[in-house]
Amino acid sequence: ARAAYAQPVAKSALARGFANLFTRNAKLDENLLDEIETALITADVGVAATTRIVDDLRERMNAREFPDVPALVRALRGELMALLAPVAKPLRIDPEAKPFVLLTVGVNGVGKTTTIGKLAHRFQNEGRGLMLAAGDTFRAAAVEQLKVWGERNGVPVVAQGQNADPASVAYDALQSAKSRGTEILICDTAGRLHTQAGLMSELGKIKRVLGKIDPRAPHETLMVIDGTTGQNALNQLRQFNQAAKVTGLVVTKLDGTAKGGVLFALAREFAIPIRFVGLGERLEDLREFDPEAFVDVLLP
Ligand code: GDP
Repeated sequence: ARAAYAQPVAKSALARGFANLFTRNAKLDENLLDEIETALITADVGVAATTRIVDDLRERMNAREFPDVPALVRALRGELMALLAPVAKPLRIDPEAKPFVLLTVGVNGVGKTTTIGKLAHRFQNEGRGLMLAAGDTFRAAAVEQLKVWGERNGVPVVAQGQNADPASVAYDALQSAKSRGTEILICDTAGRLHTQAGLMSELGKIKRVLGKIDPRAPHETLMVIDGTTGQNALNQLRQFNQAAKVTGLVVTKLDGTAKGGVLFALAREFAIPIRFVGLGERLEDLREFDPEAFVDVLLP
């Protein structure tokens, strides 16, 4: 797992910030804590989580708990792990659910369509039968993209005409998946409508009609979040969570310019399971979130 994270995450702002910290002859002093603080803030860890980590390290440093810098780094690692471990809960496909309905939500551009392709690829590799519902009827291109992807990969896609009611698409798809005995149904949704209120009420409606067929559906409301957007990602999650109780997260684009710290901010503020992280554009670049591998790569 560490190898999968090593390349992409090593380039992140947080990894770079930490790497710089300990290269010079760092001493156990206030300067070191300042640099850790700067690295955390710069990488979008958020003020609240950063302050807690640094205050705790300071207290332990002043109590002479650390014999040397590596001991402090180990303590920092422990702090980072303690933030992430509670949200590292992989997605479990309930075998009782027939089908298991996965509703994907998130604003345009975060990588939602790519993530649906990656998830479908993953489920196919696990030998699971699946179906897609093209519920982003606001964007003709999104419906088309999903259809093309489905054809190429042999996955049935339920779609209706442009501007169709996405709740009706979801309803049809669930009926169809049920009658075919499909294991997993992935329902796409719009990432943008004319108004924010419209988007949120649409999500509510989709959930209600799914629930009419199966009271437990959707079994997972998976929100896709762009890991490069920092504070903005937190605002998006706040809004979507209000409208459509989010049960899991995928944080994309943690490769490249991602700061990486947003994972800690998300974990601290929401405590919603982080199911997967996106570490690149290829189908294979969706990984189950592994906090230990992630933190290991960050720290020198
Ligand atoms: P959507 O509008 O949310 O459906 O976004 P798309 O799935 O079309 O993705 C937007 C862009 O982000 C595309 O260029 C994707 O290739 C890219 N993308 C998606 N996930 C990742 C990722 O994990 N890493 C990187 N580097 N790019 C990604």
